[in-house]
Amino acid sequence: MINTKEKHQFQSETKQLLHLMINSLYSSKEIFIRELISNGSDAIDKMRFTILSKNIDNKLSCNMYIRITLDRKEKKIIISDNGIGMTKNEVIKNLGMIANSGTKKFINTIKNQNNQHNQLIGNFGVGFYSSFMVAEKVVVKTKHMDANQDDYGIIWESDGKGEYIIDKIQKKEHGTDIELYLKSTEIQFLENWKIQNIIEKYSNHISIPIQLQEYDKKNNTVLWKQINQGQALWTRNKLQITKDEYKKFYYSITKDTEKPLIWTHNTVEGTYEYTCLLYIPSKSIWNILDQEKQKNGLKLYVKKIFIMDDANQFLPNYLRFIKGILDTNNLPLNISREILQENKSTNILRISLTKRILKLIKKLSLENPNKYKIFFKEFGPILKEGIAEDTTNQEIIASLLRFTSMKYNSKEQTLSLTEYITNMHAEQNKIYFLIAENYDAANTSPHLEIFRKNKIDVLLLSERIDDWMMHYLTIFQNKKFQSISKFDPDSEKLFGKIDNNINITPEIQDFLNKIQNTLQKHIASVKLSQRLVDSPAVLITDKNAISPQMSKLFKAAGQNIPSIKYIFEINPNHSLIKKIIKIKNTEKINIWIQTLFDQALLSTHGTLKNPNNFIKNINQLLTEK
Ligand code: ADP
Ligand code: MG
Repeated sequence: MINTKEKHQFQSETKQLLHLMINSLYSSKEIFIRELISNGSDAIDKMRFTILSKNIDNKLSCNMYIRITLDRKEKKIIISDNGIGMTKNEVIKNLGMIANSGTKKFINTIKNQNNQHNQLIGNFGVGFYSSFMVAEKVVVKTKHMDANQDDYGIIWESDGKGEYIIDKIQKKEHGTDIELYLKSTEIQFLENWKIQNIIEKYSNHISIPIQLQEYDKKNNTVLWKQINQGQALWTRNKLQITKDEYKKFYYSITKDTEKPLIWTHNTVEGTYEYTCLLYIPSKSIWNILDQEKQKNGLKLYVKKIFIMDDANQFLPNYLRFIKGILDTNNLPLNISREILQENKSTNILRISLTKRILKLIKKLSLENPNKYKIFFKEFGPILKEGIAEDTTNQEIIASLLRFTSMKYNSKEQTLSLTEYITNMHAEQNKIYFLIAENYDAANTSPHLEIFRKNKIDVLLLSERIDDWMMHYLTIFQNKKFQSISKFDPDSEKLFGKIDNNINITPEIQDFLNKIQNTLQKHIASVKLSQRLVDSPAVLITDKNAISPQMSKLFKAAGQNIPSIKYIFEINPNHSLIKKIIKIKNTEKINIWIQTLFDQALLSTHGTLKNPNNFIKNINQLLTEK
């Protein structure tokens, strides 16, 4: 017989990964079982998929399984599946290189983080190569489902050090056997109970039977004992699924290590048939605000067959933190991402899932305020995107938002709009809000003074997205929103009713004229303020003007926008104003006016175009005799 043995080198990245597996990872070794079972299950899914989508003779698909044999004599674990198997080229490509971009990312991350390998490995799932954490030699025997009965299969063998050997092998059945020759330090994995525990921990949700070989001493035979549920969790009766099972399923699909906050499991029948199991995690991930990078955590199944991860077509962007599965009968098996986008069912399913999730969030808010706090802290900023993105559900989304307010006197966002409206002043018919750079700037803003004095509450907004959101959120429960840093005749009237005792003397009029002259480049008008109590001056923007925060964003993005012309309000009852009015020297009074304006600007913007000028003026005023 001709020698058909071939020696191959691992790709260099694979070598790196293997080196790491063999030398640096000491705990969580047990995850190799999860990885190999998941590969077996993928292989069976792929086969089922091929059979169903090509209408091939169904004989192949009956009785599929993943089998585990523990061979104590040879210190060997064999994990077999009767799935799709691999051709020779596939073996070379899949087991000699790293195609999986997730694994590449894993290597890069691990290079930069010396000590946290164990946690990372659990999160990433590094696949087939994890076998080398416990095995000194790995042998793979495989045969593709398309091969004929008398065709050869492929054997692959390696110690993970740098090269592998492949050869032909006689193998009757399609599918793959992975044989792990355990290191002498890892023979603990030869215990049945140990393997059972690991499978229960990681792989119970796998919908394919996982069978463990047992020896029946009495009859001197071997038998296969099924050790997992073997039925996809979401296809089971809701009433018979425990909380613990739901949580375990969550861990298995997300690789998250924290408990989910809440979930919803529904089966819908009729024209549109689907089952969904959707979770809200308890922690956001670091790049969730980045819409491009953040993938949706929804797995799509069609008739129980896995189709794709990150099926983000079924959820709006602002719900991208949701994890879970959608299993539907309304889509063809061979659907691609492109076709999904245009499919009518996709749209209908998205509308339906969106409603469900909003309902779920509402439920959390009503039933568990503590958990809702966690939820809002983690995902509030993302949910806020929905105000603009999903105008159909705007009112519901708005009802889910939480704010802080002047009266609350705390950074924590716990006030709902409904509560705000309930506590409104009898004369008040608008929802007042103030947007600032940060909470402290908002809470100390001069704009609040008149509101504080009249005990009218104001929502304080200081998250990055707030300004943008408030462009879209204009009305809630028939109450209009009003920015208190913008000119608003209605609120002037409201306060006018309460407090109207301003008297313009000729001296004050003269002062106002001087201000108008000095600041004419920057302001549209100057007037006496009704809203100030403790501050000398404040800037108001016109009703339609773009806000300072927005204009900053535009500038940062390199866009030119016309500079804002403010309404400059001064407080004639303030001792500083009273003092300045009396100054006769034109140059001196101009410096005062400029400084007042800069102060007000600083209070709204947090920065000044020319801070040095401001400092110079202040110093001059301070040292003046
Ligand atoms: P991943 O599963 O994330 O793709 P793995 O390292 O676990 O990465 O596996 C690499 C590839 O090897 C798989 O994508 C698959 O193509 C192939 N493979 C691994 N195990 C099996 C198996 N039991 N049957 C068929 N193909 C397999
Ligand atoms: Mg895998």
